[in-house]
Amino acid sequence: MSPSVGLVTLNARYIHSALALRYLRNAARRAGFSRTWIREYLIHQPTWKIAADILQQAPDILGVGVYIWNRRQSLELIEMLQKQKPELVICVGGPEVSFDPEPPPGCTLIAGEGEAKWVDFLRYAMRGERPEPAVLRRWATYGTDLPALEAPYLEEDLPHLQHRYAYIETSRGCPYRCSFCLSALDETVRYFDEAVIRRQLTLLMDAGVRKFKFVDRTFNLNPKRMRRLMEWLAQFEDREFHFEVVGDLLREDMLDFLSTVPRGVFQFEIGIQTVDPEVNARIERRQNNDTLFAALERLVREDRVHVHGDLIFGLPGETREKILESVERVTRLRLHELQLGFLKFLPGAPISGLIKEHDYRYLSHPPYEMICHRDLAAGDVLYLKAFAEVFDLFYNSKRFRFSLDFQFRRRRVVDVFDALREALDRAGGKSDALSLEAQYELFARTLKVADHPEARDRLKLDYLYHQRVFRLPGFMQRAPWPAEEAEVRTWPGDRRSPVAPFRHVLRLTAGRLELTPAPAPVEYAVVHPPKTQGYLPAPRLCRVGEE
Ligand code: SF4
Repeated sequence: MSPSVGLVTLNARYIHSALALRYLRNAARRAGFSRTWIREYLIHQPTWKIAADILQQAPDILGVGVYIWNRRQSLELIEMLQKQKPELVICVGGPEVSFDPEPPPGCTLIAGEGEAKWVDFLRYAMRGERPEPAVLRRWATYGTDLPALEAPYLEEDLPHLQHRYAYIETSRGCPYRCSFCLSALDETVRYFDEAVIRRQLTLLMDAGVRKFKFVDRTFNLNPKRMRRLMEWLAQFEDREFHFEVVGDLLREDMLDFLSTVPRGVFQFEIGIQTVDPEVNARIERRQNNDTLFAALERLVREDRVHVHGDLIFGLPGETREKILESVERVTRLRLHELQLGFLKFLPGAPISGLIKEHDYRYLSHPPYEMICHRDLAAGDVLYLKAFAEVFDLFYNSKRFRFSLDFQFRRRRVVDVFDALREALDRAGGKSDALSLEAQYELFARTLKVADHPEARDRLKLDYLYHQRVFRLPGFMQRAPWPAEEAEVRTWPGDRRSPVAPFRHVLRLTAGRLELTPAPAPVEYAVVHPPKTQGYLPAPRLCRVGEE
């Protein structure tokens, strides 16, 4: 009888799902290992419970997927299983072990793309043979034995993916060489068959999967292919599709096309990392800032694709001043989200060659984050950490979008967030302990919103627009705001939407707010749709008297 072959991993959150397990399962079954199964767990589940569940499946052979978010828990699980069932044959794979000098004791290591090596490993295990050292070395070497690209999802996966992201690959590999990134090691880019991808997406969508993350390292490497697929996906307006794209590869004809796609269905994640050309050269990143900025500006202006940008703090040679210059310039583009991350020294990434030269110190275990370098002291990094936290609270939450537009016209971006950081610090420094009302109050107090009628109207609209609320916060009903306040009434078309008076006529187009002073208070209600609407929700701004 075919052995019982298990494939397991620990996801960071319930909404995630494990694509790699499905490739490996299918490869094993194609090779005749018909009793191959997968199980997904969560990193915060107790190890003994995970082990008990695995043992209940009675595996003979087990593959464990190890990632940056689950290394500690995976190694603990392996040790427990080995002691509970010493005859269990265990193989580990995944980016987090692909560059380990040795596999965990008693395990076999598969590095990089695993489908072909895994099947080889299973055949050896079936025969009860120990592979020769040369074979073990080849399995443990990244980039060897590249497999044919096959579809990952089967009917049996559908019940597990209902309320999760489904991860999709249309290509593997990246031609770029950014030295902080493991994809810099890829030798080739290979493409999946387009018909297979469409059949997979149809299978998943028919089963009710709503959120898709394409994990191609550069989705727009082949623009014609990208456009064909996006044209087809555009018909599914009630779904969400996320892609990683290289911003300066987006040409005019692609941007023309993107200006026609349905609003809020697509999200682009675009790495910017730094705007400093010298730093980019040091990390072997090719980036044309002019083309990139023009593309980003246009995407934001059209407001049809949700744009998530990334900056990396702590790149070699970047001082605090240079980092803040990147923040200043990129924030002014007004991307929908901007992640401020810190450089990680991922095992295997070529950037390790710069550790000595730049005197890097970094955490020796996940998440391998930098602590300081020659040009960036540990104190600077702590400052940037606090800055990034405040940026998340007031920028990436999107709760202050209209107000920040006003503030950025009057002062430097960095000054705005520095003021908020200091105020948050004075308030105890706990960003996650602030109620919604307290966040708005802190913003209003720190940036002196009450002094300016336009700033007051913007903040009021921010409060009503970016979340469903049933009344204005208390501080907006005290001096100097109350002269504008009437008793709370609700919108006739939706009794849960409060009506609020404004000192301006408000016009909202493509996410941008225009205000024209009004001679007398004008009343508006913000009516939220019953269901969430993709990446760019658009509540209705309704003027009383125009219903
Ligand atoms: S950062 Fe992006 S473009 Fe650069 S090597 Fe990695 S995947 Fe490729």
